[in-house]
Amino acid sequence: MRISYSAFDTYQNCPLKYKFQNIDRIKTPKSKEAVFGSTVHDTMKFIHTPSILSPTLDQAMEHFSLAWNPAVFDSPDEERAAFSQGVRIIQDYYQKNNPANFNIVDLESRFQIEIGNKENQHVISGIIDRIDKTEDGYEIIDYKTTKKMPSQDKVDSDMQLSVYLQAFLSRYPKEIDNIGNLKVSLYYLKHGVKLSATRTVEQLKKSEQLFLEAIQLIEQGKFEANMNPLCDWCGYQNICPMWKHKFKETRKIDTEEVNAAIDEYIELKSAISITKDRLGEIQEKVLQYMDQEGVERVFGSQGIIARSVRKTYKYDEKKIREILEPLDKWESVLKVDGIALKQIMEILPYNAKIEIEKAKAVDKESKSIAVKKK
Ligand code: SF4
Repeated sequence: MRISYSAFDTYQNCPLKYKFQNIDRIKTPKSKEAVFGSTVHDTMKFIHTPSILSPTLDQAMEHFSLAWNPAVFDSPDEERAAFSQGVRIIQDYYQKNNPANFNIVDLESRFQIEIGNKENQHVISGIIDRIDKTEDGYEIIDYKTTKKMPSQDKVDSDMQLSVYLQAFLSRYPKEIDNIGNLKVSLYYLKHGVKLSATRTVEQLKKSEQLFLEAIQLIEQGKFEANMNPLCDWCGYQNICPMWKHKFKETRKIDTEEVNAAIDEYIELKSAISITKDRLGEIQEKVLQYMDQEGVERVFGSQGIIARSVRKTYKYDEKKIREILEPLDKWESVLKVDGIALKQIMEILPYNAKIEIEKAKAVDKESKSIAVKKK
């Protein structure tokens, strides 16, 4: 199968969105974020297009202004804010980078690489924003206009950078011997920060394997909806089962009572969270007062607040093991701590995360409800 890196990325975020976009081929208007990103990318290309004299900041600004499309924004205020942000990005970029100092090899470089073997061969395509020649090797750069910046750990295992490096190596195969000097970077333009890493041959092999596994899932028709932070900007909300209620023209039960219950639930939940915050603040004050007075119980007009010491214990694992193993009970106290596992997932390499996902199975199922306020 042929798949672009961006389609793969969409599948990773939400398989259902991938299906709508790439299989059902349902077109959606380009979001304002995407239009903003394209204009900034286009300006970056203009700045670095090799010429005798590199464009000045004013020329880059002019290019940005001419490429700007105000029509995609909802209001003049929103449009003005986005334009100013674009201007700030370019100014900041010029402050930190002199375009004349880079040795550009290629810009918006299209690639197609084959992965897999004869029986299971696939083609990945994509566009690398920029390839530079550095003193001792090359640097592959991808510009980002997103607000959120990842941790260095994430950059170290980022799939996109691995695929781009593989594409670079298919064009310059001899560079494999110099892999330690091939830098892969994500330039977060809104922050003015470039995060860089390198890859090993093993990492590239592993990322190819993960790509093949995702392709296998696509070929098996696995297209479940996956709610994620990008849902709010998804153009398929009106046909997505996760947003069905919002867009349902006729609801089976649509009484005032149900609608009022939904609104009251949201209101109460937010009141609870405000109360919790306030409770925390007051608790601090009361505890401080207890310390100052040297008492464990304080008396108010509404009742008594009492303090008690709650202890949590940790055990000497070696000793416990020595006691329980001969009794054949050691295994029964060993358990993977799901909460601790979730906490470290963030910083695990991508490959490890996928392996952990594969190792999990539903144990018990219960329903809970969460509130997201408008
Ligand atoms: S709204 Fe969210 S869950 Fe639904 S298709 Fe889009 S990304 Fe997927």
